[in-house]
Amino acid sequence: MGGGISGHTTAMMLRKLLGKKHSVIVVTPNDKWNWIPSNIWVGVGVMKPEQVTFELKPIYEKLGVEYHQARATSIHPEGDGNYGPFIEIEYTDGRPEEKRKDRLHYDFLVNATGPKLKFEATKGLGPDEHSHSVCTFDHAAETAMHLDEEVERMRKGEKRTFLIGTGHGTCTCQGAAFEYILNLEHELQQRGVRDKAEIRWISNEEALGDFGMGGLHIRRGGYVVHARTFAESLFAERGIKWTVQAGPKQIDRDGVHYETLKGEELHQGFDFAMLLPPFSGVPLKAYSARGKDITADLFAPNGFMKVDADYTAKDYDDWRPSDWPSTYQNPSYPNIFAVGIAFAPPHAIARPRKSPNGNPIFPTPPRTGMPSAVMGNAVAHSIASMIKNGNTQASFAAPMSELGAACIASAGAGLLSGSAASLTVYPLVPDFEKYPETGRSLRYTTGEIGLAGHWLKYFLHYLFMYKAKGHPGWAWIPE
Ligand SMILES: Cc1cc2nc3c(=O)[nH]c(=O)nc-3n(C[C@H](O)[C@H](O)[C@H](O)COP(=O)(O)OP(=O)(O)OC[C@H]3O[C@@H](n4cnc5c(N)ncnc54)[C@H](O)[C@@H]3O)c2cc1C
Repeated sequence: MGGGISGHTTAMMLRKLLGKKHSVIVVTPNDKWNWIPSNIWVGVGVMKPEQVTFELKPIYEKLGVEYHQARATSIHPEGDGNYGPFIEIEYTDGRPEEKRKDRLHYDFLVNATGPKLKFEATKGLGPDEHSHSVCTFDHAAETAMHLDEEVERMRKGEKRTFLIGTGHGTCTCQGAAFEYILNLEHELQQRGVRDKAEIRWISNEEALGDFGMGGLHIRRGGYVVHARTFAESLFAERGIKWTVQAGPKQIDRDGVHYETLKGEELHQGFDFAMLLPPFSGVPLKAYSARGKDITADLFAPNGFMKVDADYTAKDYDDWRPSDWPSTYQNPSYPNIFAVGIAFAPPHAIARPRKSPNGNPIFPTPPRTGMPSAVMGNAVAHSIASMIKNGNTQASFAAPMSELGAACIASAGAGLLSGSAASLTVYPLVPDFEKYPETGRSLRYTTGEIGLAGHWLKYFLHYLFMYKAKGHPGWAWIPE
């Protein structure tokens, strides 16, 4: 279920590992695959949606994957007495209403349904209301159109205020907003209107450069510094102003009302805002063989699926890296897995903080693409091994406490005019037993700015599109 970064990786790898007598089936509501990281470039108008997407049908036909353009609505892990485990689906390909619903039998199920974009969590948030988004390629294309309008006004001499960041106290994905603001600043320079723009950042991070990772440290110029120094210097050099520790409560046509960690109720005006929504799991129900609702057994209250993590309630200081899942297998049904954003994290990585009014203002754990694809790959190998050897336990692990992440926040999509802030983080979930000083390896946690990182980002765009299309040698390209 889900043909995004993690689900597509799982399906392709399963198809490669399993013989033709096995069926690999993908159920996903879109007819296109989207390389989401490049939506940033669509959102500033330097790439078109066609450059970051491709049609799924011919690719799945070529690979031998059965494809249903549909949304999964419920899981029946015990079947219904007559029929083994199945999911219920609803087609989204425009077929007549009476033919829209169906059920699909499975032996193994991988939930890779990603996030539900919860714009409704903040009044007035989102592209249907008063702010823009780059979470999907069509949101990003619409954002670029509005940006063009702003540029036209600035060319006529008007001053405009741009507000970029997170649209709720519990958002994640600060890295994406960070990349958007750098690209926006670069693009306004390129279009000759930078002097007419005030560019502002707003986020729920405790400090700039936290990215939901609970304080990131890097070695620079012989010193160990908080990533705050890196991020603040990038903003200061570009004349970008910032507000952190902010939880937006309402977005109006011309501004955001937000609360701070100190409990202040403040307002920031804007002419153009790109604010990310918080995430939850997509709405899926689960039923037992007798039709009893067992959704709460399979899913955490935030809608993400429970896997082999330790979900026992603990104080923030008591959690361990080993609480994080490693095989992404559901504890109740060993033939069900959840990968990518769809699995339920056991706890926050950034320290949970609340305003004096009791409203949470801190980033939920970052859910980046590289680990999502690595998990998909590991789960495909586990399932193939379970089929081959008849074992019920998954044997391939990809714990976030042993996975790194590379994040390149580029600015500009041209070959010569861009630059990029490149961050590598290892491990994603800090481990203070292994790395007592900062929780992470100072050798593999790095931050650099320059044109080379930008080239790499550009190269990765084409490389990952190539891989996702299943072109020759795709399996050799790492996640
Ligand atoms: C603007 C932006 C920039 C980013 N940049 C980076 C970056 O530079 N580096 C990085 O590592 N990460 C980046 N990320 C994060 C990265 O995109 C995600 O981590 C990744 O897409 C997660 O993969 P996924 O498979 O879990 O979810 P997705 O890729 O979102 O895929 C989920 C799929 O499930 C489908 N689906 C939804 N509901 C159902 C249903 N009911 N039934 C079946 N299918 C369903 C969806 O349509 C979608 O196709 C960025 C994110 C954004 C928004």
